[in-house]
Amino acid sequence: MNIKIGKDPSVDTSVKGVDYKLNTDDRFISRHHAFITVESKSPLKMNVTAKSVNKTFINGKVLENNKPYALNIDDALQLVSIQNEPISIKELLTFAKIPLPKAPTAKQYKPDFLLLKDIYDNYKKESTRLTKKDALINGLRSSVFALSTASVGLIAILGKEDDTTMKLVKIGIPVVVVIGVTLFLNSISPRDKIIQLNDQFEVDYICPNCSRSFGKTSWTLLARQNQCAFCKTPWTEENK
Ligand SMILES: [Zn+2]
Repeated sequence: MNIKIGKDPSVDTSVKGVDYKLNTDDRFISRHHAFITVESKSPLKMNVTAKSVNKTFINGKVLENNKPYALNIDDALQLVSIQNEPISIKELLTFAKIPLPKAPTAKQYKPDFLLLKDIYDNYKKESTRLTKKDALINGLRSSVFALSTASVGLIAILGKEDDTTMKLVKIGIPVVVVIGVTLFLNSISPRDKIIQLNDQFEVDYICPNCSRSFGKTSWTLLARQNQCAFCKTPWTEENK
């Protein structure tokens, strides 16, 4: 059985299976981005095939298109970028009514590694919020600029009979408005906060052992690696 993943996987009729429609506005995610083939339900055996030029990853490794790769239930399956939240394979299987394997032994992560999850989640949440606000302000800024450019042009055309002073006054109004609005938008812009947040994250999101920064690698992906990629310190107590 195939589980097709994408914004509208039904477009691809060359692959038969259930369509798992992703509710996302990420324009890089394809209508049919990848599909999972469940070879056997018990024991669960799956593979994943990438279908999009916009990349598909397992545990941070990019997949070649149209080539099946073995997939485990706790692998990090990511579309477009390894910065993106992994697709929940459990959710996919549940959606396709495929019984999940019996709960594997829960991993006992070390407290200092678990702490990194909070740091990452908080960063991601705050970063998304600030970036949205920044985009909104940039949008406003360009609209105001466009409007005022248009009105200056309009004044120049309509106010032909005006004397020079009148013309300057009329043109001056939109210019002053733009400067005012721009200054106001700059004052509420989250730019500085974004820089601050990123700096703080770089300081906080580091290996508890070797203090090296994990960059923007998601916590889920770090957890999949089982250990620090730099100093090889394991994240769990069990393989100590
Ligand atoms: Zn380390």
